Amino acid sequence: MASRMNYHSHKDSSITASFGDALLASLSPDGGLWMPDQIPHFSSDQTAKMGAMSFADCAAELATHFTDDRFSSDDLKNLCADAYNYDVPIVTFDGQKLDPALAPDADNFVLELFHGPTLAFKDFAARFMGRAASHLMNSTQQKRTILVATSGDTGGAIGDAFLNQDGIQVFILFPKGGVSKVQEQQLTTMGDKDSNVRAISVEGTFDDCQHLVKAAFADKALTNKYNLMSANSINVGRVIPQSFYYFWTSLQAKAAYTHRPLVYSIPSGNLGNLTGGLIAKKMGAPIDRFVIGNNTNDPFVDYLATGVYEPRPSVPTLSNAMDIGRPNNFPRIVSLFDGNYEDIIEVCWGASFSDDETERHIRRIHTETGYVMCPHTAVGHLAMEAFAADIGFPFTRVTVGTAHPAKFADSVERILHADIPMPEPLAKAMKKTKRVHVMAPRLSDLSDYLDNNL
Ligand SMILES: *Cc1c(COP(=O)(O)O)cnc(C)c1O
Repeated sequence: MASRMNYHSHKDSSITASFGDALLASLSPDGGLWMPDQIPHFSSDQTAKMGAMSFADCAAELATHFTDDRFSSDDLKNLCADAYNYDVPIVTFDGQKLDPALAPDADNFVLELFHGPTLAFKDFAARFMGRAASHLMNSTQQKRTILVATSGDTGGAIGDAFLNQDGIQVFILFPKGGVSKVQEQQLTTMGDKDSNVRAISVEGTFDDCQHLVKAAFADKALTNKYNLMSANSINVGRVIPQSFYYFWTSLQAKAAYTHRPLVYSIPSGNLGNLTGGLIAKKMGAPIDRFVIGNNTNDPFVDYLATGVYEPRPSVPTLSNAMDIGRPNNFPRIVSLFDGNYEDIIEVCWGASFSDDETERHIRRIHTETGYVMCPHTAVGHLAMEAFAADIGFPFTRVTVGTAHPAKFADSVERILHADIPMPEPLAKAMKKTKRVHVMAPRLSDLSDYLDNNL
């Protein structure tokens, strides 16, 4: 068995916990974010072996290094095989697979992370975390209440991952009118009327939702009464599995195109996805740089340019899952680099784009190649092009495709004047009746609602 990982608070390294306890507690007692004590580094012999495994087996192997002894190798193998029963393809815009024999000159790829059940990359983390949490709870018999604030995709992924799980009640808080039509439909139709997953439409912004969840966690009486657990990306159980797909796919990309540097571009909001990528790089994933795409909510891109971090209120944009003015994983990124700004900008490069630029880009790529991108993926790809223009030498480009365009059909169909076919799971959700509670962004209202529904 591989050596097991301990976690510490990013504010105080003397406060420690096992993986399972860190996952169930969400935040450390001093309000810090849990960080792994030391990230394993794999030699090129080891990475070659892991790259030759299936994605699920590679994920399970990595997970043994990040979990504790409540998870055996076999537990993790079963957990990952069950969670990751879908494709993780790297494709070109004209649909070719990553294959130097078929596409020797290809250098512009999309890593499609949206083939899970809720059609966004959040499934990778939610499905691992959901299964890990129930595994832990089977041994404790405690009931848990999950509160999750969502800008659209997290709520769906968490709801789907925890649907019908005994002992767990999930409340999804989303900004009223702030998510796409398809996302709202998905969020409000999980399970039947006795479902353990409930949607709450909050009369406010995503920041209001996130603030409300934070206020609930800060309320010790409420936290203890309901055994509250967070499923937002402050939870380390979500961040760790997001390193798995960077690790595995970068080994595929590097094996196919050995002679070029490898750069990933990530459309970012709360920076959880980027944190996963940076952890993968520390483990030995052959990724040379990360490009960060922001919409006009761009405190991180500003930080990369100036060294000054200024969180600010979020504003609504076309890429709503990235409308975040105070990215909650920023402290983790600083911590991974021991606070060294010069080291951060050696690895991370960023650019931000307006809705107009994003719309034009979706249209241009569709006209030139036929490929349809969601607005978030388009921001990532714009950033990749800006980086390529800045850097001026050849490299392999992998833009992280974070969601299926059909999730944003209301905007993408308007932009392209074309119908976006609805994949099967979404088409099903579109036919169901919505169940939703509308609420003001007040803690007393949330606490009343929990009282009446638990
Ligand atoms: C959540 C999300 C993002 C942003 O990811 P972070 O980890 O918050 O940076 C980007 N695109 C889509 C489609 C998302 O759902």
